[in-house]
Amino acid sequence: MPIPPIKKNDEVYILRGKDRGKTGRVLIVNPAGARVVVEGIQMIKRHTRPNPQKNIKGGIVEKEASIHISNVAIVCKNCKKHTRIANKILADGRGVRACKKCGNTIE
Ligand SMILES: [Zn+2]
Repeated sequence: MPIPPIKKNDEVYILRGKDRGKTGRVLIVNPAGARVVVEGIQMIKRHTRPNPQKNIKGGIVEKEASIHISNVAIVCKNCKKHTRIANKILADGRGVRACKKCGNTIE
């Protein structure tokens, strides 16, 4: 089984785009694993129509848009740096993600 590079709840650093340099928590990884939605990152304004049945007020709502995973890098909890992922095989044969900079395992 390939190890997914980015998982839900990972902390990621934004490499490109208007939010470059910020970090945020991954809220959604799309099923193909190619795009992620990061909390507070890539905010877009959506114009919504009021819908009283669903208790939605009209107006402008800010919402996160997805970004491609090549534009984010995971933040290692150990060395606090953003890093590329190394694959590490544990003694029990299980593959896990690891920090390329310090070697710390990222579950
Ligand atoms: Zn590290």
